[in-house]
Amino acid sequence: MEQSWDALRAHVCRKCIDGDGRGNCRLAREESCALQAFHPEVFSLINALESDSYDAFVQALRARICSVCEHQTPEGVCLKRQTLECALDRYYPLVINVAESLLAETQASSPLEAALNP
Ligand code: SF4
Ligand code: SF4
Repeated sequence: MEQSWDALRAHVCRKCIDGDGRGNCRLAREESCALQAFHPEVFSLINALESDSYDAFVQALRARICSVCEHQTPEGVCLKRQTLECALDRYYPLVINVAESLLAETQASSPLEAALNP
């Protein structure tokens, strides 16, 4: 399984109220998790955004992800968001931390790998 999803399962799914506390999802089969569905795009937008402002991260989430999510109406309304049923929205600060930590680890290991494997 890919590294970004492994990290999210370890740090978000384990704490998620829809999980089993061990990183497994307990959502009903017919339900989907926006974090799982969009995590590559979410990591990409977080890593591309150079800002310390949480509002800027939220704006980017609304513009890039919510705008194409089936749960948001053309008017920008999402009932899942309003009722705190969207794990991506609910745990977004945690998701940002996971994405930034993973990026920092990757950047730190790259020069080392380059030195070890010239
Ligand atoms: S709802 Fe999403 S974040 Fe929560 S456990 Fe399931 S896959 Fe993980
Ligand atoms: S907040 Fe709503 S529109 Fe945005 S990702 Fe979650 S479910 Fe989709």
